[in-house]
Amino acid sequence: MEDKLNLLRQWINESCTAVFFGGAGVSTESGIPDFRSPDGLYSQQYTDPPEEVLSHTFFLRSPKEFYRFYKDKMNCLAAQPNTAHLKLAKLEQAGKLRSIVTQNIDGLHQKAGSRRVWELHGSIHRNFCMRCGQSIPAQAVFSAPEVPRCPCGGMVKPDVVLYEEGLDSNILEGAVEDIRRSDLLIVGGTSLAVYPAAGLLRYYEGRRLVLINQSPTPYDDYADLFISAPIGQVFGAVVP
Ligand code: ZN
Repeated sequence: MEDKLNLLRQWINESCTAVFFGGAGVSTESGIPDFRSPDGLYSQQYTDPPEEVLSHTFFLRSPKEFYRFYKDKMNCLAAQPNTAHLKLAKLEQAGKLRSIVTQNIDGLHQKAGSRRVWELHGSIHRNFCMRCGQSIPAQAVFSAPEVPRCPCGGMVKPDVVLYEEGLDSNILEGAVEDIRRSDLLIVGGTSLAVYPAAGLLRYYEGRRLVLINQSPTPYDDYADLFISAPIGQVFGAVVP
């Protein structure tokens, strides 16, 4: 393990356009459950399956039920960045990390100080009126008694990519471009099973692909370095 951490440390030092690509596992140490882990959000009891509740169709058809679930399960406004978030922010400030591509919607990378963050699935921190487009604070959305409404009366929608919805093309293109140009790609806290995670890796043209995950992924053999450990522990050890 020590050899692997030393190698990762060396690669980070030698890199100037590194990109970190992260999934739910990055935020579990901040107390945010992994959607798809066995004891995670998706296997908990709720009347409708979460994949259905968090779909575009369901949102439009039953906004009250959508928001009951959303406010109950997706409120991570009080969560704090963990070691992985903080060390990644430090790497960006030191000019070692070009950007972060994340599947998470909790905004913890920004809370830790990171600036260039491609949020593939959006963010709970951005919410807009569907009628007039006005921005509504997340706090107001989560504290609304039922369906959050704009002062104009329009319904508010979180800027979160729901099932059936496409990814924002500007964000996707930005992420692809950074990955394509990077000389070190560190992938962490994702099983790479969720669209478009695995697809994004194909754009990487460098020779140093690092995977950090507690459980095996289909890409372990494909990686130039695979570290099986909690992501916060790895960055805590590698970044001073
Ligand atoms: Zn409005």
